[in-house]
Amino acid sequence: MSFISRRNLLKLTATTAGIGLITNQLGIKALATPVKIATQSLTPDAALAKLLAGNQRFANQTTKKPNQGAFRLQEVAQGQKPFAAILGCADSRVPVEILFDRGLGDLFTVRVAGNVATPEEIGSLEYAALLGAQVILVLGHERCGAVTAALANQPVPGQIGSILEQIQPAIAATKGRSGDPLKNAIIANVNNQITTLKSSPVLAKLIEDDKLKIVGGYYDLDTGLVSQIG
Ligand SMILES: [Zn+2]
Repeated sequence: MSFISRRNLLKLTATTAGIGLITNQLGIKALATPVKIATQSLTPDAALAKLLAGNQRFANQTTKKPNQGAFRLQEVAQGQKPFAAILGCADSRVPVEILFDRGLGDLFTVRVAGNVATPEEIGSLEYAALLGAQVILVLGHERCGAVTAALANQPVPGQIGSILEQIQPAIAATKGRSGDPLKNAIIANVNNQITTLKSSPVLAKLIEDDKLKIVGGYYDLDTGLVSQIG
């Protein structure tokens, strides 16, 4: 049985037909909606500063909850121009819109256990960058369960192993290093995922043109603060 009624299917088809195909300078066709959103163009550095300022408000408990009202709802209903993209962990304690004090249409968010950049995540972030996101933040976090499991290196059920496999290079690279093995591995994992993302020709071209930067962050569960890695 289909979840889409015939009437809704017709509506969906009409909407899809209304979405324009644009070709950007990379020669890549991307779906985009021809709407104007009141989002100023930022430099990658300014986009990062804006993102981190929201986290400061969250950690200081001075949140503004921007872009969460009825006006913004309508403004972004027909299209989006997120200023930042996040590759974060699926951990329930790391909800990015809350901890960066942002609202609708601000952040293009990809969350997966262990914040690993597999092809689907890379594709999602390429799409975010083509939509206009000027910074991609790979966000690891304190006491990450996925990295803890990869460190333990014990058999795991189901498909969980496919995630741990992606984290293993960080475990191998930090083995024997001084300091906290878990924190070392979490940070190494963030850096590994950044390296993977930078190998995307789509993202590399945007970086070369000064339209994008990719950075790492570490979220402290106790303080609510994100510190930049590297
Ligand atoms: Zn995690």
